[in-house]
Amino acid sequence: MHEYSVTKGMLDTVLSEAEKAGASRITEIRLVIGDLSTIIDESVQMYFDIMSKGTPAHGAKLVFRRVPAQFRCRNCGNEYNKPAKGFDCPLCGGLGLPTGKGKEFYIESIEVD
Ligand SMILES: [Zn+2]
Repeated sequence: MHEYSVTKGMLDTVLSEAEKAGASRITEIRLVIGDLSTIIDESVQMYFDIMSKGTPAHGAKLVFRRVPAQFRCRNCGNEYNKPAKGFDCPLCGGLGLPTGKGKEFYIESIEVD
């Protein structure tokens, strides 16, 4: 599962940020995950709990914010969030193509003590 490597990368980043800030404990980590990224919140949480043991990040609360997948209509140029069903443009019914938004995974902010 690729959550292992993304969680490892995320943990390394927050630990080095906390060290730079001179923080002894990380209390909260806010993450942004695109709906197209196939990253599962629960898996990130599970790996995080295991990997953060013995580090200042152990016990930090993970807050996930989901970014909807965005499409652009090839017919009328309308940009829209992925509808519940299918990918078609809600305005004209044309074929929508992914804009790339919705694939992101990044750290939005970190709270430290
Ligand atoms: Zn359209």
